[in-house]
Amino acid sequence: SVFMAVADALVFVTKTNASATAMNTDESKLLSALGQYWGYDQFRPLQLDAMQAVMQDQDSLVVFPTGAGKSLCFQAPAVCRDGLAVVISPLISLMKDQVDTLKACGINAAVLNSSLSGAEEQDVIAQMKSGDLKLLYLAPERLLTEGMKQLLQSVSLSYFAIDEAHCVSQWGHDFRPEYRKLNILKEQFPGTAIHAYTATATTKVRDDIAVQLGMFDARVLVGSMDRPNLNYQLKKRERGLDQYIEILDRHKGCSGIMYCISRKEVEANAAALCGLGYSAAAYHAGMSAEDRKKTQEAFLKDEVDIIVATVAFGMGIDKSNVRFVIHASMPKSLEAYQQESGRAGRDGLESDCCLFYSPGDFVTWNRMIDQSESQSGREGAVQALKAISDFCNSVTCRHAALAAHFGETMEPKKCGACDVCLGKLDLVEDALILAQKIVSCVFRVDQRFGADYVAQVLVGSRDQRILKNQHDQVSTYGLLSTENKKSVRTWIEQLISQGFLIKSGEFNVITITDSCWQLLKGNAEPSLTRASKDSATRSSKSSTASWEGVDKDLFEALRALRSQKAQTQNVPAYVVFGDASLRDMARKRPSTLDGFRLITGVGQKKFDDYGEAFLKVIVDHCQASNVDTDVKVQLAEPKKAPSKNAIPSFDLFKQGLSVTEVAEKIGRAESTTYGYLNEYIQFNNVTDPSPWIDAETAAAISAVVKDVGLGPLKPVYVALNEEVDYSAIRIMMSCIANEG
Ligand code: ADP
Ligand code: ZN
Repeated sequence: SVFMAVADALVFVTKTNASATAMNTDESKLLSALGQYWGYDQFRPLQLDAMQAVMQDQDSLVVFPTGAGKSLCFQAPAVCRDGLAVVISPLISLMKDQVDTLKACGINAAVLNSSLSGAEEQDVIAQMKSGDLKLLYLAPERLLTEGMKQLLQSVSLSYFAIDEAHCVSQWGHDFRPEYRKLNILKEQFPGTAIHAYTATATTKVRDDIAVQLGMFDARVLVGSMDRPNLNYQLKKRERGLDQYIEILDRHKGCSGIMYCISRKEVEANAAALCGLGYSAAAYHAGMSAEDRKKTQEAFLKDEVDIIVATVAFGMGIDKSNVRFVIHASMPKSLEAYQQESGRAGRDGLESDCCLFYSPGDFVTWNRMIDQSESQSGREGAVQALKAISDFCNSVTCRHAALAAHFGETMEPKKCGACDVCLGKLDLVEDALILAQKIVSCVFRVDQRFGADYVAQVLVGSRDQRILKNQHDQVSTYGLLSTENKKSVRTWIEQLISQGFLIKSGEFNVITITDSCWQLLKGNAEPSLTRASKDSATRSSKSSTASWEGVDKDLFEALRALRSQKAQTQNVPAYVVFGDASLRDMARKRPSTLDGFRLITGVGQKKFDDYGEAFLKVIVDHCQASNVDTDVKVQLAEPKKAPSKNAIPSFDLFKQGLSVTEVAEKIGRAESTTYGYLNEYIQFNNVTDPSPWIDAETAAAISAVVKDVGLGPLKPVYVALNEEVDYSAIRIMMSCIANEG
């Protein structure tokens, strides 16, 4: 009868499970597909919502930034549903990459285009008819042919996915007339849902997409357009090449793009880099189509690391492991910057976007606008140029500034991934007084001169023009004689970008604005920077986190194997494995196939195809260089800055004062002070608890922690018979965590 009871219990368990799954079938189906084919274990934000719309046949319009994981939103449902999903995409290269990627995950996908032979085409059609094919990629021209219409009407269709859907709208940045014709889909396939995806769409474009495609009741999902994994760094271009090399060296052996304004610069920089032994190649519209194609493919296959290019490079490139984008000059607009810098980090891993600007860039673009834009286009182009120039000179969080430009407000928190928030800018302490001096000078010269002139007056120049105008007689003459003219010029630009001054007219005369009065009254807070003394860029917090524990030599060895596999299979390297997977391998270093299956990005098919080869490299490497295998890793949270209130206590803790003493000195309760101590320990990576806990207690706690692990405090407290204070347990556990 014991047996019967167990059997009953089993039935009961199965039943409850069954009803739980019934409630959430879509979610659990999708989640298991995610694991089986892609080797991922959770959804990114909004991905599940987007996938559920597809599962439930509700038309949808999904706007996520690049790298947020749009493709999965229509790919995962395709394998969870019967029938064929048809994906419309504008570029052959994009379609081919996606199909390669899907096949490498074990999903049956195909493309129909003019590059196929007759036999290949027949094969695809046969698979469509038999129901074996899960995803079919088509260009819109092909979709709209009579033959295709008949073919699609003869098979079981699950849904249409329109990639790069902004191409539908003439208000978007990449209107394609053939996309506009997709409006007949709803007529020809009235019962089939349509799902549209794009990374860029203003409200106007969004509405237009929905109307054009006839989706009148679409679920609209808009993610934040911020790209938290991009680390923005802006700098004045000073030493040019030297500055770039600093970044290249930080990303040795990784892929990156360097944008220049002119072909001449492209050629010069590419030649210089090759001369210095970097793996670099040039790319611009002046090269033959064949050379360009070769260069692009070499980059995709990781055969060349750095592409030095004009803006001609990048369209239709979906390489996911671009680790840095350098702008050797200022781009022409924030829209262009967003798009070009956005080619970094599509795999969601942290990547550097470094922009080097100089006042000369502004002049260069202005000249180009004069030469190329029609009268009507000129005004917009000049405005766009001013916006990016202000961005370069501003000292507010780069993520927030970009978000604001694109109509999104970000919470004013430190992003941890831009030069401003990481404290890399050297802020002037008495910015208000300095700004008041500058503004007064603008006043004293009657708001009739340019920035350069004002700067000269402030530093006390003996320039003829100044003497002739008797501006050596005004009270602000030489007021900043201890500063150099270049700094003063920079500050004037910064005051312009912060809206206190305006540059206008043909001669860029500097005048004051309304908010300038607030500044004179001392009611405003300008921010001014000094040229940074240390040029070495510290890497961002997130970058150390995701390289944490990675054996870089092993990573290189795995990268070589990936490149070899990619070459034999003639696919881009990231189709084999993304950087995130390689890092995870080089971090966890599994010694068994079971361990290897747990690596992120390892689905069933990739496990079968590559498991043994990659495992061998891992095991051989670990043996040869005597490194641990099967490392259990808990990625550290990116280090958080301590709270403002806690900071005054840090110095006291460092001096060795007890918690009671510190509490008294800073006038806070002991319990609060314990909290500060914990922040102190975490922030400074303290591993020795002896100033606060006696040796015996420490030993007792760590013995328990060894058993129950570094989770919540309660189990440790209980295991110690509730005899040790929570505060001591917390201190000890923080120290153990810091020990790693
Ligand atoms: P988008 O189309 O929005 O630019 P992709 O679909 O190309 O983005 O996804 C970017 C990267 O993120 C790809 O390498 C993809 O495999 C990966 N990715 C997507 N969803 C997830 C997830 N849930 N977990 C882990 N990685 C994911
Ligand atoms: Zn920031």
